[in-house]
Amino acid sequence: MATQIPQKQWAQVIEKTGGEIQYKEIPVQKPGSDEVLVNIKYSGVCHTDLHAWQGDWPLPTKLPLVGGHEGAGVVVATGELVEDVKIGDHVGIKWLNGSCLACGFCQQSDEPLCPKPLLSGYTVDGTFQQYAIGKAAHVARIPKELPLDAIAPILCAGITVYKGLKESGATPGQSVAIVGAGGGLGSLALQYAKAMGLRTIAIDTGDEKRDMCTKLGAEAFVDFAKSSNVVKDVQAATSDGLGPHAVILVAVNEKPFQQAAEYVRPRGTVVCIGLPAGAYLKAPVFESVIKMVTIKGSYVGNRKDSAEAIDFYARGLIKAPFKVVGLSELKNVYAKMQKGEIAGRYVLDTSK
Ligand code: NAD
Ligand code: ZN
Ligand code: ZN
Repeated sequence: MATQIPQKQWAQVIEKTGGEIQYKEIPVQKPGSDEVLVNIKYSGVCHTDLHAWQGDWPLPTKLPLVGGHEGAGVVVATGELVEDVKIGDHVGIKWLNGSCLACGFCQQSDEPLCPKPLLSGYTVDGTFQQYAIGKAAHVARIPKELPLDAIAPILCAGITVYKGLKESGATPGQSVAIVGAGGGLGSLALQYAKAMGLRTIAIDTGDEKRDMCTKLGAEAFVDFAKSSNVVKDVQAATSDGLGPHAVILVAVNEKPFQQAAEYVRPRGTVVCIGLPAGAYLKAPVFESVIKMVTIKGSYVGNRKDSAEAIDFYARGLIKAPFKVVGLSELKNVYAKMQKGEIAGRYVLDTSK
């Protein structure tokens, strides 16, 4: 079984929704029979973690809570029923920490829709700690030659946008608008889209994000804060002016969720992924009907999507920027994220 596992570890702990985040020592937990204990080396910081802390959604978190769900590390202990994950394996703890594996959704590999999910950094403690627990059936398998810092953002952001692009139905050569392209999900969406043969229009704000999006393969950039008519500008960015075939919404504000159906091309698909607090979708009925628009949601990905998203990285197709800071810096990362100042992703090094 386990060797050299400390009793205590550093973690970022929330006692109260919206309250102080405490960087402190807490006990290391033992894995249950179907679980593994992972020495988290790096954890990405997703905007979902900020929503969880702020209590933005109509689903309460556990409290006290250790957030985080983009954790990449090394297995240090396994439960007695675990056979296919070994000590020393590199794995990722994702948003979907576990699911029942027995319901109809789990049976058809739609496990994100399981009515009894365990959510990392939300309903179970997540990856903003040095040792985190994951269900063996659900941890992402990471080939040992891959760098764990770069893989961390793939574990939520990468999987989610890859799945969302598949859900959009867009095919090679078609164009996709990525709304919120300068953020963590958006920057990876630009790379996955390019690797999938899609053309992209990035929508976000500021010169830093514009430069990054262009480097990541966006053919056009629409600055939502500077544009006097986002709908017209997005349509004008497509070669025939009819708008993109699909829209991937990863923004953290409501407004773009109310514009996308207007600029998407006839028979186009709007895929909603971002989860702004208290937001509603809105679309003009007349245009949505006569353009035969599809509007849908997309929620993380299943185990196969996860393996495929990691494999895109392994094949050298995904190079999105990330900055590494210590686990102790989480509060500063949230402060930047709240102001929309992060181009790409922040990744926490749990040894600092
Ligand atoms: P982020 O903060 O890194 O990026 C959000 C980006 O949206 C920022 O660059 C911001 O400038 C941009 N933005 C804000 N208002 C905009 C507007 N009006 N038009 C265009 N862009 C705008 O956040 P992230 O970590 O990439 O997460 C994005 C969202 O996706 C969050 O709400 C998160 O909870 C959600 N999410 C959903 C899933 C899912 O499975 N559906 C998975 C992961 C994250
Ligand atoms: Zn996430
Ligand atoms: Zn289930």
